Amino acid sequence: MISEQFLAELGTTGSYRRDDPLSRHTTFGVGGPADVYLPVATEEQLRAALRIARSHRVPVFILGSGSNVLVGDGGIRGLVIENQLHAVEGPQPNGKGLLVRAQTGVSFAALARRLSFAGYAGLEWASGIPGTLGGAVVYNAGAYGGCLLDVLVRVRLVDQSDSVIEMKPEELALGYRGSVFTRGIVGDRAVLSVDLRVHEGDAVYLRQRVRELDKRRTSAQPKGRNAGSMFKNPVERPAWWLIDQVGLRGHRIGDAQISEQHTNFFLNLGKARAADVKALMDRARDRVRERFGIELEPEVALVGEGF
Ligand SMILES: Cc1cc2nc3c(=O)[nH]c(=O)nc-3n(C[C@H](O)[C@H](O)[C@H](O)COP(=O)(O)OP(=O)(O)OC[C@H]3O[C@@H](n4cnc5c(N)ncnc54)[C@H](O)[C@@H]3O)c2cc1C
Repeated sequence: MISEQFLAELGTTGSYRRDDPLSRHTTFGVGGPADVYLPVATEEQLRAALRIARSHRVPVFILGSGSNVLVGDGGIRGLVIENQLHAVEGPQPNGKGLLVRAQTGVSFAALARRLSFAGYAGLEWASGIPGTLGGAVVYNAGAYGGCLLDVLVRVRLVDQSDSVIEMKPEELALGYRGSVFTRGIVGDRAVLSVDLRVHEGDAVYLRQRVRELDKRRTSAQPKGRNAGSMFKNPVERPAWWLIDQVGLRGHRIGDAQISEQHTNFFLNLGKARAADVKALMDRARDRVRERFGIELEPEVALVGEGF
């Protein structure tokens, strides 16, 4: 699948690595190798890499910060592109408010903090969400009563024929930790940039609010390598409560452990394999199904081979 010709062409876009362990690029610290790993910092590089992969029929996976994925121990076949697009424009007055255009490799938390501290309101709730803006679009990232949909004006994407198109929030079906991307409706598209609406606020109040949310997050979430919430919260009960009720607080398989502090967080204690994490997920799902008849749905995406 990976030919010398493909590698030669890809090499003109940037410097790639062969068999790069994805455990280095995910917050879980778990995952086998990518056949080919290419960090890209500009839209031109990203689009060129996509064109080359398409022409050689090499499958592509776009990776942000790897904070919502569990990569299999067998790794990912084909090309993994790490999105490091980093340009930000604005805030600029536009129509009803102030508009920020940010490329999707930008850290959502860093952008939210920078804008809040500069006195622009609207993104305080996002100041502790790990990951890139690309991942935030895919999952409609949210916290403390806010979510991306509240501030999103439009996204720019590159599609399968290398055309750049714009999509409005209503076309993305953004819902609780999901979108057209997670539902497989929009395949093979990379999100290039997002336009977000913010408004003038009080910098002192906003800084205080961010600090307050930081404290809440630090006291609620365990430290160590993890991928945030493993399961979505079912309508009936929060996932952590269900997992706790079936006696799995602190439960361990290999080096993967259900956190003592927050039972919807699974930790890599050091050398966890994706198979261990998956076995823990299966155990939690089976026990919750048996006891409560509720199906836990993963929030973290299982990608690659070896499950
Ligand atoms: C400690 C911790 C706390 C967390 N807290 C929260 C929280 O409070 N709220 C919340 O919503 N989430 C939370 N998360 C989950 C995670 O931070 C979000 O889902 C985040 O938006 C994922 O972004 P990412 O860049 O890491 O995506 P990745 O994990 O790299 O990728 C996720 C998916 O998005 C796709 N993708 C990424 N970028 C693009 C792009 N540009 N174009 C097309 N597809 C793309 C990938 O292919 C993959 O399928 C938490 C995670 C951790 C580790």
